[in-house]
Amino acid sequence: MIPSTTRRLSKSRFLSGLQCSKRLFFEVYAPELAEKADDQRQAMLDMGKEIGIAAQRRFPDGIVVEEDYRHSQAALERTAELLGDPKVPAIFEGAFQFEGTFVRVDILERVQEETWRLIEVKASARVKSVHIDDLALQTYVLQGCGILLTGSFLMHINRHYVYLGGPLDLEQLFSIQEMTDAIATRLAPLPDQVHALREVLGLSEAPDVEPGTHCHVPYSCQFWSHCTQKKPDRWIFHLPGSKEVFRRLTKRGVNTIDDIPPEFSLTGLQRRVKENVEWISPHLAQTLQSVRYPVHHLDFETFMPAIPLYPGTRPYQPLPVQWSNHIEWEDLTLRHDSYLCRVAKDPREEVAVGLLESLGSEGSICVYSEYERYVLNSLAEAVPALGRELHQVVGRLWDLLSVIQDYYFHPDFKGSFSIKSVLPALVPLLGYEDLEIQAGASASAIYHRMVCYETDWVERDRLASALQQYCARDTLGMVELRRVLWAKAMGASAT
Ligand code: SF4
Repeated sequence: MIPSTTRRLSKSRFLSGLQCSKRLFFEVYAPELAEKADDQRQAMLDMGKEIGIAAQRRFPDGIVVEEDYRHSQAALERTAELLGDPKVPAIFEGAFQFEGTFVRVDILERVQEETWRLIEVKASARVKSVHIDDLALQTYVLQGCGILLTGSFLMHINRHYVYLGGPLDLEQLFSIQEMTDAIATRLAPLPDQVHALREVLGLSEAPDVEPGTHCHVPYSCQFWSHCTQKKPDRWIFHLPGSKEVFRRLTKRGVNTIDDIPPEFSLTGLQRRVKENVEWISPHLAQTLQSVRYPVHHLDFETFMPAIPLYPGTRPYQPLPVQWSNHIEWEDLTLRHDSYLCRVAKDPREEVAVGLLESLGSEGSICVYSEYERYVLNSLAEAVPALGRELHQVVGRLWDLLSVIQDYYFHPDFKGSFSIKSVLPALVPLLGYEDLEIQAGASASAIYHRMVCYETDWVERDRLASALQQYCARDTLGMVELRRVLWAKAMGASAT
């Protein structure tokens, strides 16, 4: 027999179930099928905790229900006790249960002796649809428990707050938005939704749900690898562009890119992916020749703390903490310059000074996205004394990504022009698989750990070295990509 707590819904189970009933089933009965949480996911969880604690500080004298998820009955009892004590102005992590649904409420603020404001804290800087579902469920449970609510609110980060140093201004750091009207339409179907999801928890095997676009909205499902393991390599989901095309093709029973009927309308890139052959534009050589030597190859890594750490910065403001520059001269000699800020301090002036020295005043600056332009312009704003020089640097940027998108295609890109797809396809010896860090989001999470939490200097050194290797791989990769593309353009013009 299934234990009653297993069939109980929680906030996270409810939201998983709204996304996909199979996901809910797997989370409860087969969690071992999930992909392992990576550094990025762990960093998000840590950040969520940090923000939750900061949000509580905005309600002085509030009391936390300390009993954790293993002691739900004790948490319910402690919450009831605090509700009945009129001296308690706010309850944090209060526990409530109604019709088999158990929720913990971030903040319940007492308005009058018997009336309350329900406040859900979110780490994001704006309200999302999934937040409204979350809040609606809590409202439903609390109302079911007989709690008199004057309103339901979302408390989220205010991106416009500028930290001035000293203690955080919590009134400014958070925005509190009333969502009572917004949740009204979601409350009506809730009893049926809750009932249906509890039925899923009573099934003896996972519901039959085909993976598709719903697996990534609102969150990427951790069972994706498991659910798609038998899909063919050229499954139509991997066709780039709007996922509407995927939906239309699925409806017509098309399973692989090779089966797309010839009359089906596709974009230029989708057609190339379907044709699945290498394509070299006759203009590739000329475009590659437009660089000026010495050619710099620049990449930044940024760090975006949700709660600003340094005066003059805003929540989630990207701060460049690391750069790498591979410089190639016309005789193909190379030099590598790099910088990594290893301690928790505002690195922007140091970054600007060192970078300008490395970039000098000559040559193109090869980048792989528009992001470097954005970072350089932000640096010019943050360090006005060097603003003119930084703006001049922006004028020298040369975007390799747009060159590849416009003038070259290789089937091994699998429809993606990310450097993480392009580099291993064209320079197989220079992929990312040998690196500890393989994506920018992980780099940011590891950076946070290194400067804010890690106390062991050996471990800090190890993380610093992993960060340096990752950033250097991107810029060396750009050097090699330009060389490989040049050889291909020359080969094409010779035939
Ligand atoms: S990968 Fe998709 S189909 Fe599979 S459990 Fe997750 S959401 Fe459902």
